[in-house]
Amino acid sequence: MSSSSSNVEQASACAASLATTTCPYCGVGCGVDVSFDIKGNLASVTGSSDHPANYGRLCVKGSKLLDTNSTEGRLLSPTVMGEQVSWDEAIGQVATKFNDVIAQYGPDAVAFYVSGQLLTEDYYVANKLMKGYIGSANIDTNSRLCMSSAVAAYKRSFGADAVPCCYEDLEQTELLILVGSNAAWTHPVLFQRIERAKKINPDMKVVIVDPRRTSSAELADIHLAIKPGSDVALFNGLIQYLSKEDGLDKNYINSYTEGFDAVLESCLDSTVAHVAKECDVSETNLTHFYELFLTTKKVVTAYCMGVNQSTSGTDKANSIINCHLASGKLGKEGCGPFSLTGQPNAMGGREVGGLANMLACHMDIDNPEHRDTVQSYWGSPSIPTKVGLKAVDMFDDINQGKVKAVWIMATNPMVSMPNRQKIAAALAKCELVVVSDCVQKNDTLDYAHIALPATGWSEKDGTVTNSERRISRQRGLMPASGEAKHDWQIICDVAKAMGFDSGFNFSRPSEIFAEYTGLTSFKNNGTRDLDLSGLCNLSDREYNRLKPIQWPVISSAETKQPDGTKRLFTDGQFYTETGKAQFVDISYTQPEQLTSENFPFVLNSGRIRDQWHTMTRTGKTAELTSHIGRPFLAINPKDADKLNLKDNDLVQLNAAHLCSENLNVCLPVKIDNNQRIGELFAPIHWSATNSSSSNIAALYTDANDKISGQPELKHAAISIVKVDFAHQGQLFVQQNLSIALLKQAFEYFVTTPFDKGTLVSFATNKNLTVLRTWLVNNFPLFEEWVGANSEVFSSTCGLREGQLALSMGTSNRALELDQNWISSLIGELNINPEKLHGLLNLQPDDSFKQGKLICSCFKVGENTIVEAIKQGNCSVDGLGASLKCGTNCGSCKSELSQLITKHKPTILPVDEDKLITLEAV
Ligand code: SF4
Repeated sequence: MSSSSSNVEQASACAASLATTTCPYCGVGCGVDVSFDIKGNLASVTGSSDHPANYGRLCVKGSKLLDTNSTEGRLLSPTVMGEQVSWDEAIGQVATKFNDVIAQYGPDAVAFYVSGQLLTEDYYVANKLMKGYIGSANIDTNSRLCMSSAVAAYKRSFGADAVPCCYEDLEQTELLILVGSNAAWTHPVLFQRIERAKKINPDMKVVIVDPRRTSSAELADIHLAIKPGSDVALFNGLIQYLSKEDGLDKNYINSYTEGFDAVLESCLDSTVAHVAKECDVSETNLTHFYELFLTTKKVVTAYCMGVNQSTSGTDKANSIINCHLASGKLGKEGCGPFSLTGQPNAMGGREVGGLANMLACHMDIDNPEHRDTVQSYWGSPSIPTKVGLKAVDMFDDINQGKVKAVWIMATNPMVSMPNRQKIAAALAKCELVVVSDCVQKNDTLDYAHIALPATGWSEKDGTVTNSERRISRQRGLMPASGEAKHDWQIICDVAKAMGFDSGFNFSRPSEIFAEYTGLTSFKNNGTRDLDLSGLCNLSDREYNRLKPIQWPVISSAETKQPDGTKRLFTDGQFYTETGKAQFVDISYTQPEQLTSENFPFVLNSGRIRDQWHTMTRTGKTAELTSHIGRPFLAINPKDADKLNLKDNDLVQLNAAHLCSENLNVCLPVKIDNNQRIGELFAPIHWSATNSSSSNIAALYTDANDKISGQPELKHAAISIVKVDFAHQGQLFVQQNLSIALLKQAFEYFVTTPFDKGTLVSFATNKNLTVLRTWLVNNFPLFEEWVGANSEVFSSTCGLREGQLALSMGTSNRALELDQNWISSLIGELNINPEKLHGLLNLQPDDSFKQGKLICSCFKVGENTIVEAIKQGNCSVDGLGASLKCGTNCGSCKSELSQLITKHKPTILPVDEDKLITLEAV
């Protein structure tokens, strides 16, 4: 029986046509119930009401999983140099080349670059092949870009990569400090749980520490818009404050920790006045925050990329942990330093050794006993004695020709790694680039000599671990598309073809899981945090039916059926040599990529609400591009004024290491009061697959944390210059257009799906005649073209088989047409002359003046919401009751709050029925 059919059977046992799986996007790890139609196709998704991560909720990305799950754009067959080949041919070529390179240059001349999108079982065999059989530690993961600083900090303080908290702590706490995280957009379901907790307990306080005033800040009692990178100064100041105000838990410090005196000594100068200056915040706000921490018993500090993606990311995380150790706010309900993972299975990768500096199951390469434990358990021919290449170093070594063959799995480093031009150069010169992925096209696949089709969500079958250490099954519900194979199968096939016959004879994921859980408990005896002895020896049926559970899951004589572990370190015992937590003495250091006269702006980067990573899946549906469909550069109004920039003006971005005259990175401006002066923000998602010049990775240097190797992706030093074009415009067309075709017409463009086809937002210096000729030449099946010109705009419409099939508007300034309006006309047969006239004059009728879409689920636009607010509907619940916005996935609730704050009338209109006449008085 295939694993997918057994999973459906498992689900069928629970409910007639339902299966339960996990969302593949973020580290919240929401449970998803999937229903099937009569033909066995996936019919609907809803949040699993009994999954402890989400209790029935899904954000907009999760709720649109089926819209992004089509086979369109999938890689369906193996290819070598772009030619379709058999699996045997492809696997044979990978194995032969890897063996040849290893024979000639040694095992460190090959590398794997893997991903937090892999399932734990995939990750486990990839790590086993590289470390146990090839004999190198050159396997690193895109999780290096996500949370490796958090890992390094936990290891320094606790002696293990052990997240002490659980999601319930976020609800049970009395003070939640959210540092460097826009959870409202990046971990939406978790944020909704926090919102609800605060509503139930209005005494709960929320402090947001973030240079930007993000959507998450709407919930904040205090928003500390600190200078980017100054987190260590902030938390060192808190240690000093706690000491001065008698807020130290001396009993906890003395009983369970070491190294406090040195830390306190270093923090003595960190007075409120000094810290306020370092962090560029007001002394009043800072004191208020410190007082809250001092006087509140239950405190959680949750942190994410704003802390981790920094040259001092590990130090920042340790400065947070120091404060929790000093106040004893750890290992208790509603307390602790809580790193949120970005990716769905970043935590699973950490468990099985997906990072180049770790062995499997939280064992260390530099520990001979651990090396022996892993090697003897595997019975493998080798085990590395030195750490491997971390992501930035790995691509450096590829670029220098030291690594000659690389296998990239389920990730797109051309878009996500810093220093894009170096990644491109490295991949271009690498002797063998193998890419396994579920998509046919992305910026990295352009460099693949061999492309291997992997299964995607709904096909993949195994386990993932979320931010709170909770292992869940991501179930294979459908057969693999085309010739795709599971990543673990591909890895095992290559391993066997390389001659490693034993060690990779797995026939299903449950066998890999059994081996992995066995290793967690092998020679453990309580010495290692990751112990899954309670999950060893599961039958296939038990594995298929596995309920979400938090590790460690320890079986013992007393506990035969363990339930997992909510919270760690409740007994004050840690995994360090002495069993005591270690304070880490840290000084504040500035980011490496500092501004200068020529590069005066700090560029921050991050995710937007409805997109995930490099858009290879979430970018497929108009449902997820209708909220924000184009990249942008957010800039403070004062900076915009100084540079004479208006909304949607295009600017070229440059950095010292680029020295580029051409249009490497060009973005439309978004004037945004939520930015600090001198600081910019741009989203990370766009790439050369869907735009001419929107990938911002080129602007970041290789600067990375000396301990964790995590790149500094929140702090580039850049310049911006306005770029004028003769025309800017938008083209709506009922078909996909190739990037090569768009390059012929437009110097700048971004493509976005809309419900009837493709929207191209563009800028060009070509004249209108050239553009219209380009249209006529490239759309030969169109039988009729009509157009209109005015002083400021022009429009062109193309008709095919009597239907409106194309509409292009251009202007001598930025132009943004209402997508819903154009969409209502595209495809219309014998279009009404009045409507065509409106389109040619770029004049939508009144029903299409909703403004920017805020609620993707119910398609409610900004103008409609603002109008309701101005009429006195000034609560999120009230707007939901009247307009339905925010009442499905809830992802837009924080934006609704922002709009309420901005547009709430100072004097509310009086209800008609409450008006009384003077006579009545
Ligand atoms: Fe998926 Fe959204 Fe849940 Fe993240 S919060 S796991 S993206 S549904």
